[in-house]
Amino acid sequence: MPLTNKQHDAIMRGYDRRQYLNYRQLCARQDEIYQKFPRIREIEENISSYSLRQAEKLFDADPNALSDLKTQLLSLRQEKELLLTKAGYPADYLDRHYTCPDCQDTGYIGRKKCHCFQREEIRLLYSSSRLEGILTEENFDTLSYEVYDEEQMESMPAIIRLCQNYVKTFDQEFKNLLFYGSVGTGKTFLTNCIAKELLDRRHSVIYFTAFQFFELFSAWNTSESEDFSRRHEALLESDLLILDDIGTEMANTFTVSKLFQVLNERVLRRNSTIISTNLSPRDFRDIYSERVFSRITSSYTLVKFTGSDIRIRKKIARSR
Ligand SMILES: [Zn+2]
Repeated sequence: MPLTNKQHDAIMRGYDRRQYLNYRQLCARQDEIYQKFPRIREIEENISSYSLRQAEKLFDADPNALSDLKTQLLSLRQEKELLLTKAGYPADYLDRHYTCPDCQDTGYIGRKKCHCFQREEIRLLYSSSRLEGILTEENFDTLSYEVYDEEQMESMPAIIRLCQNYVKTFDQEFKNLLFYGSVGTGKTFLTNCIAKELLDRRHSVIYFTAFQFFELFSAWNTSESEDFSRRHEALLESDLLILDDIGTEMANTFTVSKLFQVLNERVLRRNSTIISTNLSPRDFRDIYSERVFSRITSSYTLVKFTGSDIRIRKKIARSR
């Protein structure tokens, strides 16, 4: 996804900051441990001088010297770990810790952008997304079966399991979901639960209500600016795209064809999408065309939500 230099620099500064903070924390851990166990400092100094010699020996043709050094290094490392764990510290307490171990907080794996970089891009391009605030309230930890009525209790446990499994297998399986069913049956809540889990696992997630989504396209209709093409690419590239409440906006030929393009392209790139709608499958097909509908039925798992409106029931319960 092409960023402007300024945007790219802003993200890279974030990595510099992270590296610096992690380095400072490492220094603090070292100070603490060296004071308590001077032997560990000695070991670490030995390890670094041995490692240096090992690197030098690599260029020599003396295999015995190299294997001697390796054995010494191993026993030093073991002694250090033993001292740490005996005192109740984790064995890697004096290792450098990374916010993202995959790219070691550099933003890149080889020449490829790390998933954490992609997530930063999306955060930058879609800073207005309302997602982050709401997720502290709506996630698997705050999920309660008490809100469901009798009818919902028949299907919800299986749906919740399906959502939890969706998160668990997200990295291995390419899967799209269509949540449908009447208003207030808990569809958005569960998409939020999934979004929260995946964001916590450092995946990139873009959330749109149908209204926001099509509003973006109307703007694209008139503007071909670079900013839009960047956002468009982010839309196609994010690990998960959530389109909430499809069917509440005014659909027309233009928006329907854009919707098809986005859904289709994401299927081709094997990037997952979750759609929620209050429409029945039949109404969905009538509004968004046979083409969109068959794209969805062929590559999405359809999940039906039943029962009465949870929000209304909560209100009635409160007023009693
Ligand atoms: Zn990373």
